[in-house]
Amino acid sequence: MNAGSRRVEAAIAAAREVFGERLSTAEAIRGQHSRGEDLSRPVLPDAVAFAATTEEVSRLLAICNAHGVPVVPFGAGTSLEGHVTPWRGGISLDLSRMDRVLEVNEADMDCLVEPGVTRQALNAGLRDRGLFFPVDPGSHATIGGMCATRASGTNAVRYGTMRENVLGLEAVLADGRVVNTGGRTRKSASGYDLTRLLLGSEGTLAVITKVRLRLFGIPEAISAAVVQFEDLGGAVRTVIETLQCGIPVARIELLDEVQMAACIAYSRLEGFAARPTLFLEFHGTEASVAEQAEALGGIAAAHGGSGFAWAREQEARNRLWEARHNAYWAATALLPGSRAYTTDICVPISALEEAILGAKRDIEESGLTAPIVGHVGDGNFHAAIIVRPGDEEALARAWALDRRIVARGLALGGTCSGEHGIGIHKREFLEAEHGAAALEVMRAIKAALDPKGILNPGKLLP
Ligand SMILES: Cc1cc2nc3c(=O)[nH]c(=O)nc-3n(C[C@H](O)[C@H](O)[C@H](O)COP(=O)(O)OP(=O)(O)OC[C@H]3O[C@@H](n4cnc5c(N)ncnc54)[C@H](O)[C@@H]3O)c2cc1C
Repeated sequence: MNAGSRRVEAAIAAAREVFGERLSTAEAIRGQHSRGEDLSRPVLPDAVAFAATTEEVSRLLAICNAHGVPVVPFGAGTSLEGHVTPWRGGISLDLSRMDRVLEVNEADMDCLVEPGVTRQALNAGLRDRGLFFPVDPGSHATIGGMCATRASGTNAVRYGTMRENVLGLEAVLADGRVVNTGGRTRKSASGYDLTRLLLGSEGTLAVITKVRLRLFGIPEAISAAVVQFEDLGGAVRTVIETLQCGIPVARIELLDEVQMAACIAYSRLEGFAARPTLFLEFHGTEASVAEQAEALGGIAAAHGGSGFAWAREQEARNRLWEARHNAYWAATALLPGSRAYTTDICVPISALEEAILGAKRDIEESGLTAPIVGHVGDGNFHAAIIVRPGDEEALARAWALDRRIVARGLALGGTCSGEHGIGIHKREFLEAEHGAAALEVMRAIKAALDPKGILNPGKLLP
């Protein structure tokens, strides 16, 4: 036995004292924690610990820090960039059982939750109070994972991302100390903003154990619509003009003709053609919703959009948005046995047309299947490159395609990741995006908070 495996065995033995049967070394459980929803090679952790309290998280981190053993926080494992793969072994710390909603404050419109709560479970509990939490990735992600990846979704154009909707955190540092960041006020100018530092830190700086979230009132009137276009350029120009005119759409999502064909087949959407399409939603009063829809209808018509199909009832709206949220699964259904590598650039709105039409050309030249779908209201879109696991040649072409799309995005003043994060796969773009000096600052922060490098090692920083 080498020194490394002796350290791991000692840490597991000490952790077993804390977790009892909630610490598992069973191969099946380790397999479930060997990767996320991405194409990276799975790596088994040495053990999986299912936390129930902050105290347990703190004790586990103190143990692993003392023994120099890696800890990889794990929410629902839906991340797409290799974030949860424990590629240096160690303990996968599963937080999904810390899933209580601890407080809902209707008067202040905020709540306090444990990290394992999913946004679907949170919203199901809030509905009767007339409140909702708007950040909605198309997966059954946990709030802790969404904080750690600075996630967003279809509502971000109106309500913002996790960055705007997290008021404060409780988090455990690598050595086991518990810190509280932020608070319940809507603004604060007090001290460094540790909440924003931890949002998007991908489990590399601390383990999040409580989250205080902003909530919103369910709008008086909600209307959804679908509009189809002759060409992709017309759909994208409609988005740009809508935002530049200041029409406060709640959701504006683009699907190219390949993605639309996939969604029609997968979600049995009837009455639509496989053409570039915008899915829209308007929130407000009856009058303001009608006004927004009319203004957008005029812009769409000027860019070749036709056949506004309305979904006013909740059931019809749910069907539409479920189809949009299932776009990833619809895309993988195009090639049986495949999975998707999802590009994720985000550019300034004025550069969206060049970014999307350029990506479309790159996809055609690559010979790969890669439907385009996007939260275009934020300038963010994805190409889901469909690849069969094990097809190394196709995978190499997929990486090359992603690099071209990212390079164009960066040249247009954008970012390599609008919402999925860096994980393993996007580390190579960080320096080009942020510069060497900013990267040095990031490394200094990592060294200060996690000097032994036990928290999710090898992720985010190149
Ligand atoms: C079909 C599909 C659709 C998706 N759509 C979207 C989308 O619209 N928008 C979007 O932003 N993302 C989307 N994603 C990506 C993914 O769902 C998000 O990144 C999500 O936030 C991950 O949450 P999770 O609970 O699954 O976290 P995990 O995958 O378990 O973990 C993600 C990262 O967070 C860390 N982490 C997890 N919990 C904690 C914690 N409590 N404390 C500290 N670190 C922690 C992990 O170590 C890891 O680095 C999609 C994924 C799929 C499969």
